[in-house]
This record gives sequence, C-alpha cells and structure tokens, in this order.
Amino acid sequence: MAGIRQVVVIGAGPAGAATAARLHRRGVRDVLVLDRARFPRDKPCGGGLTGRAADALAELGLRLTVPRVASALARVRFGAHEHAVGLDRPVAIVRRLDFDASLVEQVRQLGVEVRTGARVEALDVRCDAVALRLESGEELAARIVVGADGVGSLVRKRLCGTHRIAPHRLFVQEVAAQRADTAMLYDFTPMREGLRGYLWAFPLADGRTNVGLMHYPSVRQDGPGLRRLLQAGLARHGIEAPMRDARGWPAWGYQPRAPVAAPRLLTVGDAAGIDALTGEGIAVALEHGCIAGDAAARALADSDFRFADYRRLLRRAVVGRELSLDRWLAARLYQAGPGWQRWAGVALADPGILRLYAARVAGTEVLADRKLRLLRALAWRWAQWHGRRTGPDAAAP
Ligand SMILES: Cc1cc2nc3c(=O)[nH]c(=O)nc-3n(C[C@H](O)[C@H](O)[C@H](O)COP(=O)(O)OP(=O)(O)OC[C@H]3O[C@@H](n4cnc5c(N)ncnc54)[C@H](O)[C@@H]3O)c2cc1C
Repeated sequence: MAGIRQVVVIGAGPAGAATAARLHRRGVRDVLVLDRARFPRDKPCGGGLTGRAADALAELGLRLTVPRVASALARVRFGAHEHAVGLDRPVAIVRRLDFDASLVEQVRQLGVEVRTGARVEALDVRCDAVALRLESGEELAARIVVGADGVGSLVRKRLCGTHRIAPHRLFVQEVAAQRADTAMLYDFTPMREGLRGYLWAFPLADGRTNVGLMHYPSVRQDGPGLRRLLQAGLARHGIEAPMRDARGWPAWGYQPRAPVAAPRLLTVGDAAGIDALTGEGIAVALEHGCIAGDAAARALADSDFRFADYRRLLRRAVVGRELSLDRWLAARLYQAGPGWQRWAGVALADPGILRLYAARVAGTEVLADRKLRLLRALAWRWAQWHGRRTGPDAAAP
C-alpha cells in the first residue's frame, strides 16, 4: 500500500466536488477524489439549482458555466387551482451531465487529483488510517475518508449497518414538449390518486422538458403504479410522455438522529440524506461539502479524527435546520389521511405560505427562522378549512 493520503473523497458528484473545493480553500492539498463513473456522466435529476445552491457555489469559489434556463416563476397546482409564484432569484435548471462534469473540471483546475473509473469496493477503519480497496485491486489509505458516494453509499452502509429506512422514490425523464414560458410546474394533484409527493415539469435549455415525480414512502406504491401516476398527471397538462424512458431512483430522507460520521469517516450529500419534502439535494450536497471540508481540515490541524460533533454541526447549520423543518412538514403533508390532504391543498393556496417558501427557494430567507410565521399561517388555514369543512376547491382564495 502506498503512503497515507490526507483525505480521500469517494464520489465526484456535487457533494464530492464541493468537499474537495472547500478542502483546497482551507489549504489541504493532499486530497484524492475517486469516482467509479467517467465524466461526463448522467444522474437522474430535475436539475433545479435554487438560490441556496448558487450561494453555496459562490462560497466554494465554483462557477455555473453550463447551459441553463433561468426560471423566475413557479406554478403550484392542487386540483383545479393553480398559483403563480414569482421568485426574487430565478432557479437555474441544468442538465446534470453538463453540470457535474463542469464541477469536476473546476476542481481539477484547482490542482485536486480526481480519478474516474475508480470504484471503491471496501473500506476498513484502522487506528491510524482508513484502508480502501478499489475494484481494480489497488489499495489506498487515508487519514480521513469522506463518503460523497450518493444514495448507495458504502460509507453510509458502514455507519448505519443493516438499519434501513424506506427510501423516497423519484422518477424522471425528458420529453420534447412545447411550452409557453419558462415557468416550473409543481403539481400536487396526484396526491388525490395515491401519490405522496408531487409531479414536476421543468424547462430545459434546448426546448425539451424535464418531467418527473417524487414519492414519499408513507404509502406503498410500486414502480408501474408511480409511472402511471406520472403519465396521467402529465396528460392533464397536455404533456405526452411514453414511460419507457422514465428512470426510477431511491433517495434517503434526512434524519437528524441518523449517524453521519464516525472516527475518520464523514458523509455528505445524498449519503447523509436529502430534503424529505421536495426530494432536492444539490444545494444540500454543496452546503454539506462546505461543512465537511471545514471539519476535515480542522481534524487534520488538531490530529483529532473522532468527528464527535459533526452530526451536530450538520444539524445546526442552515442546511440542517431547513432539512429538519422540511422533514416535519413532509410528515404532516405526506403521512396524513385524506382530510388533512384537503387541508394541505388549502395551505398550498395560501399566498403568504407560498411567498415564504419562494423566498427560501430564492435563498433570500431561511424558512427555519420564520417557523413561527409559517406555523401561524398553517394554523390559520387549518382553522379556516376546519370551520368550513369544505375541500380545497371551495376554500381556496
Ligand atoms: C429523479 C430525481 C430528481 C431530482 N431533482 C432534483 C432537483 O431538481 N434539484 C435538486 O436540488 N436535487 C434534485 N435531486 C437530488 C439530487 O440529484 C441529489 O441530491 C444530488 O445528486 C446529490 O449529490 P451527491 O454528490 O451527494 O450524489 P451523486 O450526485 O449521486 O454523486 C455520487 C457519486 O458517487 C459515485 N460513487 C458511488 N459509489 C461509489 C463507489 N463505491 N466508488 C466510487 N464512486 C462511487 C457515483 O458514481 C456518483 O458520481 C433529484 C434526485 C432524483 C433522483
């Protein structure tokens, strides 16, 4: 086995690239990023980069250089009601094939070594280092290993053992669809037919449309069932989508108490958990990268590799507080019975609630800091709906 590296990052997606860039900023030069794929590689995704993602990229010194659509309008639909919500800062919709490759290129330009086509098969934490074995048979060792290896993370498996939670499921595909404008569509109507999530349609730079849905695992739905819901939901918007190209993908919702670190090991991005309400994770991955990069640089400086406070750091940072709030909201919205869902339809029509959420998407507000205002608005809508005992169609403004 060759000499011990300071940090090995497994995975060169947004979380891995962000961690490597942050480590470089913190003056750690001996960083090796390994990815089993060769870039450009695709990743099933809606490709929506929110204002928070833009802020995190800027903080990391990374730039958005790839073709994108800047969408400053979201249409939120539930049943017959659609609400147009303006965003102070547009969401940039990218293709992951381009975006991830551009991050890898930028990290390489910093001087970071990124090896692709290098799958890590096993890791073994020893007292002075972590030993890694690659599929090629090569062996490596590092003082710290960062698991930026996505939803099937080896590092996550090591931390969580056999304890498994049911994953969110997301389906996505691209369609050649005509569209009138560059608005993003979020449609919660399929909740009436058994979905626990929403359907989206996002414009792409070449005129195509990225369509998909997210399903929260409170109700069991199989792949064919979810594809049917997606197809029927899109048909309501005049979008024809033969489902043979729809790709399904699992994702773990963030759990504040789940292990995210151990001595010499850290997880970031999808390996640590995504947003349970929306299924989004690019901004999360970039923000995690900043925190993990700082934590690893500190550990090397102090020769203290326990990472005892990493879970608390993730939880208390803006990203952790926002994820915790969305976890709570997801449980209310997606675990509820039909009565609550009608209320949710009413809440989704509340202009104040939509404005608050839009400010969070734009990155101008931290929703977790406006919890009281959000809860008051939700409670008011609840009282209104409960008093009238009507459905969303009648109660919506
Ligand atoms: C259908 C769908 C739609 C989505 N839409 C959005 C959206 O619109 N906006 C948003 O913000 N988020 C969205 N997300 C979530 C987003 O895609 C993820 O949160 C994001 O990709 C997480 O980045 P990551 O770097 O943690 O993981 P990944 O992007 O998955 O990168 C992990 C990398 O690790 C590598 N790897 C894995 N195992 C190994 C190994 N053993 N050895 C070496 N390399 C390994 C992989 O090859 C991969 O390149 C969506 C997700 C899905 C599934």
